[in-house]
Amino acid sequence: MSGLQGKVAMVTGGARGIGKAIAAALAADGAKVAVVDLDLANAEATATEVGGGARGFAANVAQAADVDAVVGAIERDLGPIDILVNNAGITRDSLLMRLSEADWDAVLNVNLKAAFLTMKAVTRGMMKRRSGRVINIASVVGVVGNRGQANYSASKAGLIGLTKTIAKELASRNVLVNAVAPGFIETDMTAALSPEARQALSAQIALGRLGAPADIASVVAFLASEGASYITGQVIVVDGGMVM
Ligand code: NAP
Repeated sequence: MSGLQGKVAMVTGGARGIGKAIAAALAADGAKVAVVDLDLANAEATATEVGGGARGFAANVAQAADVDAVVGAIERDLGPIDILVNNAGITRDSLLMRLSEADWDAVLNVNLKAAFLTMKAVTRGMMKRRSGRVINIASVVGVVGNRGQANYSASKAGLIGLTKTIAKELASRNVLVNAVAPGFIETDMTAALSPEARQALSAQIALGRLGAPADIASVVAFLASEGASYITGQVIVVDGGMVM
């Protein structure tokens, strides 16, 4: 496929997990991908692996100065950004009574504030060019909540509200903003689950299994494509039928 030929995509948290699968899917569709992650060596290794002229960049996307610097570097090296995927995310799980202010702030900063910072930095150019796609990786727990994830579910619910608001603000400039809300996906983030927890989870999923990063990446690639040019402000839940 070459539906994204000539497009430049920025994928945050792109070095591993779901972000890496997204980077690979966009590169396979012809985009030049900027793999942005905390560690430059990891980002560059993934960029080399996904190919198609992908490049690795280091940034902590929760910090405004880093975001501005990395967006400038990507636009200098690869060209104007056509597709922004806000995928970087962390968990710091605790029940409310044990949840520290530091863990609240860390999760909100990476999962929510970073998307505000990147969208602000990247969509100005998209608006001028009257073209752009933003895809925010939320979570099904931002829709339904989850015990022990007050900070994480609040950040993802916030990201969904942010997605809908910016979709409304930018629609007249043909900048489309959507969210993908994964269920439970096999990555380092879910690797810590005990076999019992994994079993209990799978029993709640209509399709009877956790998802793969590629299951999310294919939906992101669709939302970045011409075929999705009449979709904005939506939350696509990709969870094997866990929540209906
Ligand atoms: P992951 O395997 O933990 O990978 C996250 C990536 O983000 C890592 O490469 C990490 O870098 C990077 N990162 C973390 N903080 C960053 C920051 N401040 N700036 C730049 N990069 C940063 O996570 P994942 O499971 O692929 O999840 C990806 C996204 O999907 C997240 O937003 C997550 O909330 C969401 N999600 C995942 C699941 C799931 O079941 N896995 C379900 C629903 C939603 P380091 O390697 O240096 O830490």
